[in-house]
Amino acid sequence: MTTKNNPSHTLTISKEEMQQYGYKIIDHIVDHFETQNSKKPVALATREEMDLLLTESIPDQPSPANEVLDFVMNQVIPNSNIVSHPKSYSFVPGPNNYISVMADTIATGFNIFSGGWAASPAAAELEIVTMNWLLEIFGFPTKKGGGIFTSGGSMANLTALVTARRIKCGDDFSKAIIYLSDQAHSSNIKAIKVIGFKKEQIRIIPTDIEFKISLNKLKNIIAKDRLEGLQPFCIIASAGTTNTGTVDPLDEIADICQNENMWMHIDGAYGGAAILAQNGKKLLKGIERADSLTVDPHKWFFQPYEIGCLLVKNHSWLSSTFSEKPEYLRDIEGNESEINFYDHGIQLTRRFRALKFYMSLKTFGLSSFKEAITYNINLAEQTEALLRKSVLWEITSPATLGIINFRYHPIGQKLSENELDHINQTISKKITHSKEALLVTTVLQGQVVLRMCLINPRTTIEDIKNTLKQCEMYGEEELKQVSNTYP
Ligand SMILES: *Cc1c(COP(=O)(O)O)cnc(C)c1O
Repeated sequence: MTTKNNPSHTLTISKEEMQQYGYKIIDHIVDHFETQNSKKPVALATREEMDLLLTESIPDQPSPANEVLDFVMNQVIPNSNIVSHPKSYSFVPGPNNYISVMADTIATGFNIFSGGWAASPAAAELEIVTMNWLLEIFGFPTKKGGGIFTSGGSMANLTALVTARRIKCGDDFSKAIIYLSDQAHSSNIKAIKVIGFKKEQIRIIPTDIEFKISLNKLKNIIAKDRLEGLQPFCIIASAGTTNTGTVDPLDEIADICQNENMWMHIDGAYGGAAILAQNGKKLLKGIERADSLTVDPHKWFFQPYEIGCLLVKNHSWLSSTFSEKPEYLRDIEGNESEINFYDHGIQLTRRFRALKFYMSLKTFGLSSFKEAITYNINLAEQTEALLRKSVLWEITSPATLGIINFRYHPIGQKLSENELDHINQTISKKITHSKEALLVTTVLQGQVVLRMCLINPRTTIEDIKNTLKQCEMYGEEELKQVSNTYP
């Protein structure tokens, strides 16, 4: 697209074209927010289908902007799951909010460089301000504490482990050992690998029947490692495992870390937000004792991707880990000095992530977030009550921080574990293929179970009843199949 005033090398379009183009996009987004509940949350497509639809050679010549936009709206966007759909129950849904979407648009439109103070004092300040809100929410010291926004929980965990290693081990981490449970999120293992730890330096601790890290086993292994002259340096505790919502015994782990001079990292990527609900806060007792804490605003703080967050007890730990400049005059006053966030984490060029968190919190107020999270926790408990009253369902892991695991297991049916696994796998397959709901399985203690993560405040108990009814239909079909196959 070129005109006299907009020669192609300037990569510009006219003011009128920009407006028309922008308004059209806003219309699409608003329409999506208004109609998504009546759409289907699941997109299914093979690589072949997508190749056929989207593969093309590099476009050398311009195309009309509206044509490209229409193609994207018709072919690209519909071939993605709707993670904010009320019946998107799987993984960790992404129930974002419109204010934050617009805030992200501003951050991108003005292309704010959120790396250094000098480039954007107000962006740095807003990151400090919102970080202080989070420090306060989680009971971290606001003067001495600090943190940084990252692309997500994975990067926050990585940033935490680099920091922990620096502070506890210095340059030599050849004997350092790190501990986490078999229910800890896979991004932690990924991060441990990225920072160059060998397999022999990782201890995966078994969990008990409630999926909490076994304290006894943890203590035993730490003691043995000490006897062998190794250096136990960090425990990663989960505050809401992604599988079941289970919170590890945080206070007890904090005690161990204190006694053993170890770093306590808490991965609260999805679950941490539950601190805003009264019953969640009880479960998360001890979270304030962590040295570092990951929370993921793009999960249960209802932000669009990407925003994760790492909080630390002592803000100078980040700068002494990541700053590549002499430190003699920096950061001595903690949060009160002018912060260059590129000195506090891995990225130099960073988008203005704090803006969406700031604008949505100001617009809706913390009380709305509290209500939303409380609603979600209660919704999972209501779902548990519903399932317990049914002769068709069995609870595998009770409602915890909005997550519940269950399986189809009608009373009085003699079914082997294999048959039950098969039936539940098939229920998930069929419902996902119907595209009516995204409901995939997980494996808990060897059993295939259905898992709902109910962090969308727009999901209703009616949505859930609907989905369960559909599951029961598939379950019954499969039950007949099984009794035909194994009479
Ligand atoms: C989602 C999740 C992560 C990873 O976060 P991303 O934002 O996906 O990178 C880490 N830990 C837990 C507990 C999670 O639920």
